Amino acid sequence: MDLFEYQGKQLFAEYGLAVPSGEVADTPEQAKAAAEAIGGTVVVKAQVQVGGRGKAGGIKLAATADEAFTEADAILGMDIKGHTVKRLWIEAASDIKKEYYASVTFDRSAKKPLVMLSAMGGMDIEAVAEEHPEALARLHVDPLIGFQPHHGRWLIYHAGIDEPAQKGVLDALTKAYEAFIGLEATLIEINPLIWTADDRVVALDAKVSIDNNALFRHPDLAALKESVTDDEQERMAHERGVTYVKLDGDVGIMGNGAGIVMSSLDVVALAGGKPANFLDAGGGSNAEAVATALEVLLSDPKVKSLMINIFGGITRCDEVAEGLLTALDTLGATLPIVVRLDGTAAEAGRAIIAERAPANVVVEPTMLSAAQRAVELAKEAS
Ligand code: GDP
Ligand code: MN
Repeated sequence: MDLFEYQGKQLFAEYGLAVPSGEVADTPEQAKAAAEAIGGTVVVKAQVQVGGRGKAGGIKLAATADEAFTEADAILGMDIKGHTVKRLWIEAASDIKKEYYASVTFDRSAKKPLVMLSAMGGMDIEAVAEEHPEALARLHVDPLIGFQPHHGRWLIYHAGIDEPAQKGVLDALTKAYEAFIGLEATLIEINPLIWTADDRVVALDAKVSIDNNALFRHPDLAALKESVTDDEQERMAHERGVTYVKLDGDVGIMGNGAGIVMSSLDVVALAGGKPANFLDAGGGSNAEAVATALEVLLSDPKVKSLMINIFGGITRCDEVAEGLLTALDTLGATLPIVVRLDGTAAEAGRAIIAERAPANVVVEPTMLSAAQRAVELAKEAS
């Protein structure tokens, strides 16, 4: 789960990492009020889960509260790399002497947390790693020993951090590591971590990803889940408890189990189509689960045809077919739907669809033929 910058900064503050004071604003009026409360020059920052907001025009300095209003008005609703800006973070402007980069991530191949530090912050860190690999100091930390001051000193020395900022950077790294462990994060990235004109070290940006599998241990973080999924279908799927991942094609896919859905993605690609999503209605999918899943898929305007791929094991295909008919009755879908049913009670299931389903629903005998048909129908529809 990726958090917004303002959420990350609020967590940083809880771990004692220095961040500029700020407030959330959803309207220009709120931005103005926040700027008045903060006082002095503020920065108006678009809250979208994508980097490079600065370059895209999503970060602006405002010297007065009225300017904050104007900038907020311009940034709200802006599209930044496909993400619409719905929320702003207004914070006290910082006087920057230098921008550094710091991160803690999990290196799966080394089975250890990896701490990285660079004196070349602010810019795209992938470019730094590529063009100036020596400028990015990297150190693995034994999770049982934890992050020690000597780790910090090694990183600071190798990254070439300026002397007056060294103590502050050491402190920031220590707290970032504590946050990484405490939040069960998979990533804590601070770009830039700044050295200010008055020699403080402050986190000016925050990228925090939390391990979804650890969320049950962090009810306060789990509660943020709703606020961070900005895709409507993803939110619906989450509320309904189905596994859903949005993709960028137009053939909607539903199956009962992760394996069959993965295979469906492959055959749709093989048939020359592009899957619109990954939707696993669950291994023991009953009629209700199918209806729920269908509702999520049909709400996506990008979906031009559907492929429903069910292999009956515990699930009975006749029950799935009944569920499908009920769901179609209530949802009233008109787009083409291709159904492939196999396994337990498949004959009965196919018969139900053939006899009673609306004309837009067709049955195909195999996975490949179902995919081919769904791809053709999506092409015809677009
Ligand atoms: P990103 O572009 O999405 O990574 O957003 P950041 O929060 O990292 O901001 C991008 C850049 O805006 C920073 O690297 C700074 O150069 C600049 N910036 C952000 N906040 C301030 C501020 O308070 N004062 C000044 N002078 N520049 C800022
Ligand atoms: Mn940044």
